[in-house]
This record gives sequence, C-alpha cells and structure tokens, in this order.
Amino acid sequence: MFQSNPGIKYDMPLFRPPSEAESLIFQITIGCSWNKCIFCDMYSTKKFRVKDEDSVLDEIKLAAEMNPDTRRVFLADGDSMVLSTDRLLKILKKLKLSFPLLRRISCYASPGNLQRKTQKELTDLKNAGLKIIYTGIESGDDEVLKLVNKGETYSSTVEGLIKAREAGIKCSVMILNALGGKKYSRQHAINSAKLVNEVEPDYLSTLALMYSMGEEEYALRFGETYESMTSEDILEELKLFIAHTDLKRTVFRSDHASNYIFLRGVLGRDKLKLISTIDEALGGVDENSIREEWLRSL
Ligand code: SF4
Repeated sequence: MFQSNPGIKYDMPLFRPPSEAESLIFQITIGCSWNKCIFCDMYSTKKFRVKDEDSVLDEIKLAAEMNPDTRRVFLADGDSMVLSTDRLLKILKKLKLSFPLLRRISCYASPGNLQRKTQKELTDLKNAGLKIIYTGIESGDDEVLKLVNKGETYSSTVEGLIKAREAGIKCSVMILNALGGKKYSRQHAINSAKLVNEVEPDYLSTLALMYSMGEEEYALRFGETYESMTSEDILEELKLFIAHTDLKRTVFRSDHASNYIFLRGVLGRDKLKLISTIDEALGGVDENSIREEWLRSL
C-alpha cells in the first residue's frame, strides 16, 4: 500500500522498503539505470528515465497542499542517487520548504552511485535532509556478484557505503540468501558477513531469493554452475552468514515473507540466540523429506 495523493502521478509499478510504508513517495527517476541483475524484474517493464524537474517540483507543491503534515518522504524509483547532487539538493530543499514537519527523507542507493559522489556532496545531501539509504548489497562475494550481473564488487560496495556512513547517512542493507545456489553458498555467506562487518550498517536484513521469473529461468541466466538449494541448505547458509558476522549494534531482520523462519534481533548481542533459533528449525526438519510449509509456519 502507498500513501495516496491525488497531486502525484505514479508510473507503476511502484516499490518502497517495508519500513517506508508511512512515507509519501515521489518518483524522481523512473525505473533503474542498471536494470540488468539476473534475479530482479522490479523495473523490467520500465525504460530508465529521469523525471522532468518541473513536474517533480509541481508534484511536491500540490502534495504539500493535500498533506501538509507529512513527516516522511521516500524518493523512488530504484536509483534516485544517479541524479546529480545539484538536482537532488534542489528537490530536498523544496521538500523541506513544502513540508514543515518533515523529519526524514530516504531513497534506494546503489553503491556505485554513492561511490561516484564526493564526500562533501554526500554530507551536503545529509544536511539537506537525506537521512537513510536502502542498498541491496545482495552478496559480498565477487564471483557471485559477477554471476548475477550486479554491476558492483565487494570493494565498490564497501567504499560507497562507508562514504555514506561517514556523511552521517544511515544505511539499511540487504543480503539475498540462495543467490549463488549451492555451489557458491559457503563463499556467499562468509564474504557477505565479511562485507557487512566492514560496513557496520545500521540495519541489516536477509531475504531468500524468490525466483520471480521461475527457478528454471534463473538457472539459465546464472549459467551451468547453478545448483538448486533446498530450504535446509538456505537455512544453513543463513546460519553460516550470521555466525561469521562481527557487529556491535546492527538491527537485524529476516522477516520478509520469502524467509523460512522469522528472525529479529541486534547483532552482535543476539547472535547466539539467532543461531539457536535456526538450529531448532533445522532440527525439526524431517530427514527424509524437507517440509517447506512446516518450516514457514514456525
Ligand atoms: S540494481 Fe537493484 S533495482 Fe536495479 S536491476 Fe539490480 S536489483 Fe534490480
């Protein structure tokens, strides 16, 4: 669900992170400028374009007349940080002036786009109201990132996110379980943990890959080294990932509908508790047949 506003014309489909459910959304770009990850079809129906600046500013003005008390704004679509800093600052300034109670502006951000901005540009954006960015890291393993055509590497991701953090922007990151299939599962888990340890994000979530275009198609796109994973394999991967994290105060969530079990906690404080919850789930698996539905209902 999205906060509806008659002053805003959306180009559907529209996506936002779960924690932005209460936010007013402005589409300042349409689609994703990369749009090539083999597991993602979120924006496959859209050709990337930058929304005309006057239309964006007019929509903000109209929306402010309808919802003057707005406190949170999310800037869509998948890749707002691809815009020049000057353009972004103009939009952030207009938002601040239009919504006097505005507390938080957020958007999705790819590591590469963060990396391409200078430290000062990111600090200016933070001071203009950009409080949190959401980044799909997906994996910390370069081999897996290449196989899924993510267009990022371990080092581009670390560099981009550390730059954002140093500017004072909060980082919420996501890792995709099962992304590398069984063959790459171990390195995917360990290197993803290594990456988040380096970045120390404020928020971390894990999702299980959903194969939106079907697993057969995913396997085709991935290549011949793809090996299917069972729900038990996926839980083992998640356990390995959590076991290798070395974090202090990162809020961890694994509670998306795609996950086999729901986990919530703070890493490191709750690390052992999270691992034993996974162990309990694995212990309950029928050795002869893995019952996905049973796991999902835990
Ligand atoms: S960068 Fe993100 S939105 Fe774009 S194709 Fe990849 S996963 Fe999808």
